[in-house]
Amino acid sequence: MEMYAYRCDNCGELHHPRHFVCRRCGHTEFTEEPLSGKGKVLTWTKVYNLPEGYMRPSLSFAIVRFEETGLPVSVQIDDEKPYIDEEVNSTVGVIKEAVGKDYYGFIVEPVVV
Ligand SMILES: [Zn+2]
Repeated sequence: MEMYAYRCDNCGELHHPRHFVCRRCGHTEFTEEPLSGKGKVLTWTKVYNLPEGYMRPSLSFAIVRFEETGLPVSVQIDDEKPYIDEEVNSTVGVIKEAVGKDYYGFIVEPVVV
């Protein structure tokens, strides 16, 4: 599973996450471009009151600016203590654990140096 950005076939504007109408020119066809998934944490927050179905006491969410698109995206971050400007990589992991059913999605994790 890879992460994609969507490049407008008409004007070349990059979108992420997916848009169905180009925010620059209104075109509706896009070409998928794979992303490396590298980015930097702009800000983050810890959420304790999770909706029903989450099997853990808290989750961290970060706004990450991805290298290729330069766009800020809200993602779950697998890090107990994220910090501003932390370098992260995207991976696929369990975003929601429920009884007998796990949900997978993109998570970012710290780049190990
Ligand atoms: Zn466009």
